[in-house]
Amino acid sequence: MSGCPECEATVESATKIPGEVFPCPDCGTELEVLGTQPFAVALAPKEAEDWGE
Ligand SMILES: [Zn+2]
Repeated sequence: MSGCPECEATVESATKIPGEVFPCPDCGTELEVLGTQPFAVALAPKEAEDWGE
């Protein structure tokens, strides 16, 4: 998998590092970089942003 799992858009991998979470440039889905050789991404785990409730 070298593209967005949601919309299959090609993701620019040149500037990505493993563990980086970034929004898909096409659909905005949060993606996490699993690795760079080969480059692979997956849906980033949903994290609540309201820490401490
Ligand atoms: Zn996408």
